[in-house]
Amino acid sequence: MKIEGKSVFGGIAMGRLSIYKKNDSVVRRMKVADTAAEIERYEEASRKAKAQLAALYDKALKEVGETSAAIFEVHQMMLDDDDYQESITNMIQTQEVNAEYAVAVTGDNFSQMFAAMDDDYMKERAADVKDISNRVISVLQGASDAGFSSSEPVILVAEDLAPSETVQLDKSLLLSFVTRYGSTNSHTAILARTMNIPALIGVDYSEDIDGHYGIVDGFEGALYVDPDEETMEKYRKKQEEEQEKARLLQELKGMPNVTKDGREIKLYANIGGVGDVPSVLQNDAAGIGLFRSEFLYLESDTFPTEEDQFNAYRSVAQTMAGKKVIIRTLDIGADKQVDYFNLAQEENPAMGYRAIRICLEQPDIFKTQLRALYRASYFGNIAIMFPMIISVDEVKRIKEIVEEVKKELDGQGLAYGDVELGVMIETPAAVWMTEELAKEVDFFSIGTNDLTQYTLAIDRQNPRLDAFYDAHHPAVLRAIQMTVENGHKGGAWVGICGELGADTELTETFLRMGVDELSVSPSRILAVRAAIRACDLSK
Ligand code: PEP
Ligand code: MG
Repeated sequence: MKIEGKSVFGGIAMGRLSIYKKNDSVVRRMKVADTAAEIERYEEASRKAKAQLAALYDKALKEVGETSAAIFEVHQMMLDDDDYQESITNMIQTQEVNAEYAVAVTGDNFSQMFAAMDDDYMKERAADVKDISNRVISVLQGASDAGFSSSEPVILVAEDLAPSETVQLDKSLLLSFVTRYGSTNSHTAILARTMNIPALIGVDYSEDIDGHYGIVDGFEGALYVDPDEETMEKYRKKQEEEQEKARLLQELKGMPNVTKDGREIKLYANIGGVGDVPSVLQNDAAGIGLFRSEFLYLESDTFPTEEDQFNAYRSVAQTMAGKKVIIRTLDIGADKQVDYFNLAQEENPAMGYRAIRICLEQPDIFKTQLRALYRASYFGNIAIMFPMIISVDEVKRIKEIVEEVKKELDGQGLAYGDVELGVMIETPAAVWMTEELAKEVDFFSIGTNDLTQYTLAIDRQNPRLDAFYDAHHPAVLRAIQMTVENGHKGGAWVGICGELGADTELTETFLRMGVDELSVSPSRILAVRAAIRACDLSK
């Protein structure tokens, strides 16, 4: 069976299909006859949930540090709480209800009780008790913790995947993403590019393909379920050809990013976390042009501390050993939601309370991140950039806060390095203000994903609009041109870190515009290098 879809990243994947199960299934009240057996079911689920939390603790300890990991220990203790356990078992026994229902009601009751307490620490526990209850419920319902369970790499099939879900996935078990919804610029698509695995969106699949064998053709945009031997053979060959092409690109490692007529451009990589650094080095990027720091927040159940962040930034800076590492401050909101920020539901979250707006309104969160960034800057070549800028005033305010942070560090005798400051140009307002903004900062980095969304008034998350979406729209290209010209006039260098930077059909255009740097997914570095080296700007 062949199901058509839209490719968001090329490549061929062959393997088992595994349907991603969301953890938010509905809980129904049901009558049970054998309450003792139901209590036993609950106890078994609680034990499993604890084992999952212990594993999460170990994972978090390695990836984000002790302070962030600690929450998983607290969760394990909460599961063991006598009052909590008694409430559940008592309800099963006296009301003869199913364990899922008893856990859900107890979770709600306890959460309301905590929320009403006059103590900030206890108030925060309201979300935790909900969280552990949901975990036990999903174990009872047979959903696996990671959203899919497999010991072999699979093609992951999902309705859609939120960034908070993708960060939890075991990346070593993913061959490809296939989703029903999602769009070309969604973060699932960006993740697929970072991981260098094919991805399809808009695939109208039925649940019964779970566990069947599949082939993803990320070039033609097709998913084959239970392919016949002829199709299998065709794709085995195609996969070999792809591997050969990749091998040829490997020969470009160590080569300069220079056109035939001698124009050189910097080629950096985009990353989402410490775990992406090895692929930056393997693909021979000269630096990191965009570290999406919000993924540290997405991976955590509570605000990452200064120490957690410092460790992550320092580790990246040290591993990059003096090469430039541009870290973008928190860009939370819109499609990147984090529960503990308690952001209100908004009609238009992409144009809502997000990114730098949160940081300027909640300077404590911002300062914690800036302190961690400046402290880490002592250990490498860190630059900082700020997302979603719309005015010069915002930049002035940011610079004041940066000065406050530096003063604090001076007062504490904490060392930091020379840090270049830049802004993302990803709103039309910023483009129009580039002349003034260039005088305030060292560099611009053009976020074409959002810039295209706002310039064309096309929601980047809405697949319904793909037909109207023109990545090469002249309005976007003119905005880039204007940004480069005004940036240079004001003494700022200019890069592109949105997905368009990796579009090799535009490499020559960008070079002719005078773009100084391109930052692309690690997996695209060598292909873009090949495109640069094929250009001759003298013609
Ligand atoms: C962009 O908007 O182009 C960008 C690089 O940021 P993000 O995709 O994380 O919004
Ligand atoms: Mg953006």
